Amino acid sequence: MDHLFLGSVAHCESRDYLETFENGFVAIEKGKIIGIGDRSALPPDYLNSLPVTTLSPSQFLLPGFVDCHIHAPQYPNIGLGLDLPLLKWLDTYTFPLESAYSNTDFAKQVYEAVVRRTINCGTTMASYFATNHKDSSLILAYEATKQGQRAFVGKVCSNNASPDYYIEKTADSLRDTETFINDVLNLNNPLVRPIITPRFALSCTSELLNGLSDLAAKYGLNIQSHISENCGEIEAVKDIFKKETYTEVYEDTKLMTSKCIMAHGVHLEDEELQLFKKYGTSVAHCPTSNIKLRSGLCDVRRLWNAGIKVGLGTDVSGGHNASMLVAIQDALNVSHCLNIFKKQHIFGSGRIQNPNDNSNKNYEPLEYKHALYLATLGGAHALSLDSVCGNFAVGKDFDALLVDISKAPLDLFDIPASVNEKSIASHGRVDKMVQKFLYAGDDRNIVKVFIAGKQVKNDHSI
Ligand SMILES: [Zn+2]
Repeated sequence: MDHLFLGSVAHCESRDYLETFENGFVAIEKGKIIGIGDRSALPPDYLNSLPVTTLSPSQFLLPGFVDCHIHAPQYPNIGLGLDLPLLKWLDTYTFPLESAYSNTDFAKQVYEAVVRRTINCGTTMASYFATNHKDSSLILAYEATKQGQRAFVGKVCSNNASPDYYIEKTADSLRDTETFINDVLNLNNPLVRPIITPRFALSCTSELLNGLSDLAAKYGLNIQSHISENCGEIEAVKDIFKKETYTEVYEDTKLMTSKCIMAHGVHLEDEELQLFKKYGTSVAHCPTSNIKLRSGLCDVRRLWNAGIKVGLGTDVSGGHNASMLVAIQDALNVSHCLNIFKKQHIFGSGRIQNPNDNSNKNYEPLEYKHALYLATLGGAHALSLDSVCGNFAVGKDFDALLVDISKAPLDLFDIPASVNEKSIASHGRVDKMVQKFLYAGDDRNIVKVFIAGKQVKNDHSI
């Protein structure tokens, strides 16, 4: 696609800097960004050579969302079983459903809907867990290809401590994974890649984990798994593998690489943070499921301070919503709760406990621009895709959302000029539109979605 957008633009240039242009432009050639800036800097020949769209005053462009952790097969379970803790939830709801994907017709029905739903919610890149079944996992890669979504797709591997109706033999798991890798690579789709996906340490033997890291090295692939989500899980891992820390299990099996992303990391110990930093391994923060399954409050500031890359995930269906907007809102909620606990020492008794403890007095909760960073550039960085997507830097693919804050569930009013003059002094007009969308918008405000310059969602009501 060649195109020129004129109007408001916002994107994270870095973790702490949200760059906005009220009267800006983004120029695209062959699906890649060739220019961005203020309208005053627009090269005149772009106006003559590119088809032009002028955004309305209630619209702006935002980079597409990067969902670093989503279980596509669990989508039919959204909203179910969230009164249970992790390990019970897996046995009662998750494993029975995932085992049903031996049926490829069922897989097609669900995966078509998951890709459609996530695109409609603004997810331009998703790192998907599928199931143990290679054939239905390939259907997910087909659906992402068909609908134009950027994706990592992982055939899940588990050969241990799993229900007898949903478990693999080691040799079968490795053979099927290699077949799956080649099948996805043979799609010849630069947007869709296979990803090595051991479910988590508890459901894999060291032999399987070692075999999977060999495959990751052989094919140069990214890796995804889970770590330190829940205290019971951590104790079980240490006990079974006879290790001091959870991370050592993945370190010993060569899975801790700079192209590896581990979901959760809620309870990582200080020594483990050093290992993540040493290997360049990332964390997928999943605030929605961490709250819903009562796993804990992951402190993103602590991970950042240790030099660890962090992205954001919906973690469907431990997370109850496929929309990254909900993950953004929950990332802010978790950070605000941490701030309350750390600074105010209030735990529901109405009394301030430890009033003389000032150890966290400088703690800063995340702001909306940080949550947007996690959902865009931070996620792309965590998945080693930041040279391709995540913001509107020149040379990257145009993965973008056209957002309209005049659509439901938001309402626009003719605010008296005196109000705007006072409040815009602290926040510009585009910043305010971004805030409204992130805190109070939903998929109805995302009227168009573009991936690598191709339009994949169009709300014809605009
Ligand atoms: Zn997960």
